[in-house]
Amino acid sequence: MSPASFALSPIVAGLWRITSWNLSVAERVRWIEQALELGIRSFDHADIYGDYQAEAAFGEALKAAPALRQRMQLVSKCGIRLRSAQRPYRINYYDTCATYVRAQVEQSLRNLHTEQLDLVLIHRPDYLMDAAGLADTFATLTREGKVAHWGVSNHSASQFALLQQHHPLVTNQLELSPLHMAALDNGTLDQAQQLGLRPMIWSPLGGGRLFTGDDEQAVRVRAEMTSIANRYGISLATLAFAWVLRHPSRPHPITGSGRIDGLREAVAALDVPLDAEDWYAIWTASKGHPVP
Ligand code: NAP
Repeated sequence: MSPASFALSPIVAGLWRITSWNLSVAERVRWIEQALELGIRSFDHADIYGDYQAEAAFGEALKAAPALRQRMQLVSKCGIRLRSAQRPYRINYYDTCATYVRAQVEQSLRNLHTEQLDLVLIHRPDYLMDAAGLADTFATLTREGKVAHWGVSNHSASQFALLQQHHPLVTNQLELSPLHMAALDNGTLDQAQQLGLRPMIWSPLGGGRLFTGDDEQAVRVRAEMTSIANRYGISLATLAFAWVLRHPSRPHPITGSGRIDGLREAVAALDVPLDAEDWYAIWTASKGHPVP
């Protein structure tokens, strides 16, 4: 499949928090089935999630119900060496050398009980990255059938361009929410539009801060969004997803909810045509000042 024909589902499910959901294997299978029934076909993982245990938790469900695999896309990430009990590094750091990327991809394949990952992202920009060398690693793992497509996460526009020059990338996975708007101004979303590559969006609910944050910004945004959500007759979560989806880069928000109702609230946003005035009212509440 060429990068141009690669398409994630409009809403993606993120598995960062799966190990805290306390679901049995049968419940994990049911959770995946219900996500698929809602049209969520893409599942976002990373080697390090859940202290390196999250992929295996999802993989146990795929092993129990192998027919699910062909109905979904598996996305994973690598490149962060995260200190943990079984990985006693002195510090956390980034590593995009061939041996580490290969080792982590092969570990994700084993954990997820699959032959191929649909998309692998370099999780964070590695300041020591050898772009040409990393592109060779991408090409080799693609040739071996282990990874279908490549992308990055949290890369600046110039970091994206550097790697893209050596190997086609399909996305930059970025943080964007009514509480975190840096991507609107730092050029990453402009670049996505320029290249026609749809970004993936992490923490669209600010990781839950939208509901529970007691800092000034969260309180201000929640008050404004609650009043708008009431007018549209939708939940606060649905409004937050609609706010992200309104961006012209045609982003794919990643829901981090473990509740099926949480997934449903994300999917409901696909039918909410958010007015520009309301979009800017949320921007204004977030910044704490009007547009210049
Ligand atoms: P999020 O959707 O912003 O936050 C999810 C959190 O919000 C969950 O704890 C969820 O709890 C809570 N929540 C949802 N609805 C709520 C409500 N109505 N009231 C109170 N709490 C509510 O997303 P995220 O989990 O931070 O991130 C989503 C995904 O993005 C991750 O799973 C991961 O795949 C990806 N990610 C990527 C990066 C990166 O660097 N590339 C970084 C972070 C995350 P419930 O489970 O109870 O709904």
